[in-house]
Order: sequence, then structure tokens, then C-alpha cells
Amino acid sequence: MALKNDYLIGVLETVKKRNAGEPEFIQAVSEVLESLEPVVERRPDLVEAGVIDRLVEPERQIIFRVPWVDDNGKTQVNRGFRVQYNSAIGPYKGGLRLHPSVYIGIIKFLGFEQIFKNSLTTLPMGGGKGGSDFDPKGKSDGEVMRFCQSFMTELYRHIGPDCDVPAGDIGTGAREIGYMFGQYKRLQNEFSGVLTGKGLTFGGSLARTEATGFGLCYFTNEMLKANGKSFEGKTVVISGSGNVAIYATQKATELGAKVVALSDSNGYIYDENGIDLAAVKQLKEVERKRIKEYVTTHPNATYTEGCSGIWSIPCDIALPCATQNEINKASAELLVKNGCFAVSEGANMPSTPEAIEVYLSNGILYGPAKAANAGGVATSGLEMSQNSARLSWTFEEVDAKLQDIMKSIFKSCDEAAKEYGLEGNYMAGANIAGFLKVAEAMKAQGCV
Ligand code: NDP
Repeated sequence: MALKNDYLIGVLETVKKRNAGEPEFIQAVSEVLESLEPVVERRPDLVEAGVIDRLVEPERQIIFRVPWVDDNGKTQVNRGFRVQYNSAIGPYKGGLRLHPSVYIGIIKFLGFEQIFKNSLTTLPMGGGKGGSDFDPKGKSDGEVMRFCQSFMTELYRHIGPDCDVPAGDIGTGAREIGYMFGQYKRLQNEFSGVLTGKGLTFGGSLARTEATGFGLCYFTNEMLKANGKSFEGKTVVISGSGNVAIYATQKATELGAKVVALSDSNGYIYDENGIDLAAVKQLKEVERKRIKEYVTTHPNATYTEGCSGIWSIPCDIALPCATQNEINKASAELLVKNGCFAVSEGANMPSTPEAIEVYLSNGILYGPAKAANAGGVATSGLEMSQNSARLSWTFEEVDAKLQDIMKSIFKSCDEAAKEYGLEGNYMAGANIAGFLKVAEAMKAQGCV
């Protein structure tokens, strides 16, 4: 879909000129600007206040050297990033991605998306994101610790519990957050909720580990219910086999579905009996092995090289939970052809714009990432509340709050879509509802 509004066309032109060579960032901005066309028609005051011109430019971008010594005594150098994107409604908040593909364009796209996602949670959190091109895969615990300590030795001066609160993302799990938290505490001589996703013995929230995957299924369940459908008896394909994929598999199964496939960046497994989640948790969370090892203990299952083939498996519901742009037009068409009726996104921006066109033009129920995967950051927000109050809630309390938040996110997306004449387009609804709250705050705070 091409932009029609002259003002928005101008904004996008500037973004393209300023951020040449950052296709993921331009893709994320384009999608939001397209959704905002009906809003700028109705709200000239927001245009007048320059809200959108300011929104597309991060408040601050920090890039730094991360030197560390490997197990052979050799110096290694990585690049670290933190983009403090928007603080209109709360402290910057967003995860840290550790993956060799990380560069400033990836961090900016994720930070931009995070603004709207955090707004949708109803909690007071601004948008930010960070990370490094460091690859934790194949590194020893000692190497990961030395990297994390070096990373935090620069980052600590830019963050704080009332300023910027990072969390996990691809490659950053409980181990990495633990090492970073230890180094922050040592440098600041302060025990505070500066990071979320912490271990349960030092301020972490129960249910944070499960939150993104569980939240994805709670949101999807609302979307299905609103359209007279459910998870019960449905076949589900989930990509990835990391944090989000594992807990999405658990909750989808609890809700009555059968998950038949999972993947990693090398290939995918198919188990027609339904994935044995205990085996996957042992492989991925304990042994840190590749997903193909699953077939050695489950000979009835198959492993296929190449991760994109997973979308050729017939399913009713697809939950992409690996990475950006993992479903292209051809994969989306295959899903439709094989009878898939819902796609809901655990990963950030996993569908290309062409894939989204295929969903919308074929009446597929589409749960966009910034709404569907917001359960992770919402529970991080709940971790911040518990840290500030110096108390901890039970698993059931946090899970109940998460369910309420995901229901309210679905409601906001649904209502905003209806209000702007786009009923059933939850992507437009998420972008509009997320935007309006931030925009009102930016307008009220003046040109800053
Ligand atoms: P993990 O590191 O735990 O797992 C990532 C999974 O995705 C792994 O199976 C990994 O395979 C696969 N993957 C990563 N990069 C690629 C790639 N380029 N191609 C194919 N597969 C890939 O990360 P999470 O589960 O935490 O994150 C998954 C997605 O969910 C990301 O998009 C993240 O931004 C998003 N997300 C995560 C949240 C959270 O709370 N963790 C919150 C909201 C969104 P391999 O091991 O081969 O790399």
C-alpha cells in the first residue's frame, strides 16, 4: 500500500534520506505511517505540533566499543548500541539483542516498534532498544560473562530505574541479564530494578520467562473468540525454539491446540503427534543444543534443513516466533493455500509488507507483533512495579494481570480499527491506538 497523504509522504522521504541503508527501520516506519493516514486527516493539531516529525527521530542513539578477552587470551571487539527512542510516557524500556546481524538499523526498528507496543500495555513505559553484534552461540560461560561485564561498563552511565530499563531479547536470557545486573550493581553501588528479566532470587518477577509466549496466546485467543473461533483442536505451527516459541507452545497446548513444528535458524522439526515440550526445554534451556537433536529421541519426528520451509506445513494457526521478515509473500501464500486462518506474531516484524498484504486480502486474522507480543514488556513493567514497591507477587497474580492486559490490548486494537473505519484490521488498530496516547503526551509536553 502506498502513502497518499502529502504530509506523510514528506515525513517518509526525510526518514529515507536520513536513514539510508537501514531497510528494517524504513519498513517499520512505513507501516506505521500508512496506518496513520486516517488519523492525520482527523487530527491536524497533532500534525501542527510536529508530533510525527519528532516521533520518527530517536531522542538519543548511543554506539560504543565492547572489548573483551576470549578463552584463548585474545582480545575481541564488538559494537554495542542503545537507542533511547521516546520517553513521552515513561522511562525508555526495551530489550537488548545479542546476535551477529545486529546493527543500528535493527536496533532503531525495534526501538520504534517498542514505543507503540509499550503504549498499548497501558503501563508508563517509553520506547528503547539495544544490543550488540556479539554472538553468544558457541561461547563459554566465562566469555559470555566477560562480554556482558564489558558491555555494561559503558552502558551503566546511560541507564537507571527512572531513566532507561533494558531487558532480554534474542540471545539475551536470564544468564546474560544476571551478568549485566551484577556489573551494574558493582559499578553504581546500587541494588535497583535497572534491568528486567532478572533471576527470581534477585528481584525478577515470576511469570516473566513465560510472559511473551503466554501473552501471545492470550491475545490470539481474544482475536479468535471475537471471530467465533478458538485454539481447541487446532493445528499450530510455531517458528523458533527460543524463549517466545517455547512458552507459546506450552500455552497453545494448554488451550487445546496441537503444536506440530518448531525451528531454529538451521532448520525445522515436524512431529505429527504434537511437540514434546519437556524434551525441547531440556534441549534448548538446559543443554543449549540445536533443534535437530529432537529427532534423535523422537524417531517418528522429522528434521528438514532450511528454516523457511516450516511455512509449507499445513496448519490452522501460525505463530512466527523467531525473527524479522521470516514470512515473505510466497510463504504467506502457502499458508493461505493450506488453510491457515490466523497468523499472530510472537517475533518482532516477522512478516514482510507483501506477506501482510496476502493476509489482509485473504481475510486471515492477523495479530500484529506490537500488540500480540506485548506481554513480555508488560510483565517487565510489572517487575518494575514490584521492584519499586520492594515486594513480589505470586505467579498466579502476575499471570492474571498479564491476561487482563492482553485482553485490554486486543480491545484497544479492535476499537481503534472500528473507530477509523477499518474493522478487523488489528494492525491499523494497534498502530493508531499505540500512537494516539504517545502523541497526546508529546503534544502536551511541548516541542522537546
Ligand atoms: P531467543 O534467542 O530465545 O530465540 C530466538 C529463536 O529464533 C531461536 O530459535 C533462533 O534460532 C531463532 N532465530 C533467531 N534469529 C534467526 C534468524 N535470523 N533466522 C531464523 N531463526 C532465527 O529469542 P526470543 O525467543 O526471546 O525472541 C524471538 C523473537 O521474539 C524476536 O523477534 C524478539 O525480538 C521477539 N520478542 C521477544 C520478547 C522476549 O520477551 N524475549 C518480547 C517481545 C518480542 P538460532 O538458535 O538458530 O539462532
